[in-house]
Amino acid sequence: REKLLEVKNLKKHFNVGKNAVLKAVDDVSFDIYKGETLGLVGESGCGKSTTGRTIIRLYEATAGNVSYEGVDVHGKKSKKELKSFNRKMQMIFQDPYASLNPRMTIKDIIAEGIDIHGLAKNDKERMERVYELLETVGLNRAHASRYPHEFSGGQRQRIGIARALAVDPDFIIADEPISALDVSIQAQVVNLMMKLQKERGLTYLFIAHDLSMVKHISDRVGVMYLGNIVELAESDELYEEPLHPYTQALLSAIPVPDPEVERSRERIILEGDIPSPISPPSGCRFRTRCPHAMDVCASAVPKWQEAREGHWVACHLYDNDLNNENKQ
Ligand code: SF4
Ligand code: MG
Repeated sequence: REKLLEVKNLKKHFNVGKNAVLKAVDDVSFDIYKGETLGLVGESGCGKSTTGRTIIRLYEATAGNVSYEGVDVHGKKSKKELKSFNRKMQMIFQDPYASLNPRMTIKDIIAEGIDIHGLAKNDKERMERVYELLETVGLNRAHASRYPHEFSGGQRQRIGIARALAVDPDFIIADEPISALDVSIQAQVVNLMMKLQKERGLTYLFIAHDLSMVKHISDRVGVMYLGNIVELAESDELYEEPLHPYTQALLSAIPVPDPEVERSRERIILEGDIPSPISPPSGCRFRTRCPHAMDVCASAVPKWQEAREGHWVACHLYDNDLNNENKQ
């Protein structure tokens, strides 16, 4: 598998007043392979959107780096190189209504990127592209002269997707693209995204707050908690054999369709609230809510390690030295 993106020890901190620093993303590392969908999941405020926005350069990184096809995304760049990044990496947002200019027609919204990057020779070609994009996302040319408020939430998300596709990107960050949609519409948007991925060889970072939302679309899934990624694995493995206590709790909260299984399942209830990312707990940040917390969890930050092939976790339960001690 070929790497498209490498995120190494990425940090994004925000100054939020006198001597207060919000560590929204704090030392996060992962790779994204060409053509895959990496799901990124966690409760609101865990840093998943900030991770996406920092990767795509909407935010400057505080530390660490992101490389895209081997090129440092945050390093100094010429205008031409920046423009090329902006074209290759696109973003789809949670609330398509807020991200679509209400005073622009759909055709102008979609054509904006085409114009900026000079992807059409003349007006006829520009409109051909717009019509084609509308059809690609399941809308039609009659929609081109209308305004965003004339569309439903699902249709607006399709417009957001068409706008992202207009510049022919390789990589799309979808920040909770289905969270605001009715459940009946969510599957349609996910299916459309999967179809487009196949046709165009796209790579996705798919952000969601709920593990059930990314299950269908993701090849691999990463779980975030309070600015850290705590576990990352192939989807099937993560759902069947979650290692991190936080992932285990999240999965236990998803109802299973089979009532027999559902009745016999144990639900893990997490006590307490998520601590503030301005003053996170020492050691393991999950320790204030973890049913398995040990003394060491307060004093040492758990290492990000590959517990099994391709299955990464940050938790002292999988610390080999510690386990050997416990066995003796
Ligand atoms: Fe729980 Fe400790 Fe593992 Fe953190 S390191 S998840 S507190 S067992
Ligand atoms: Mg968010």
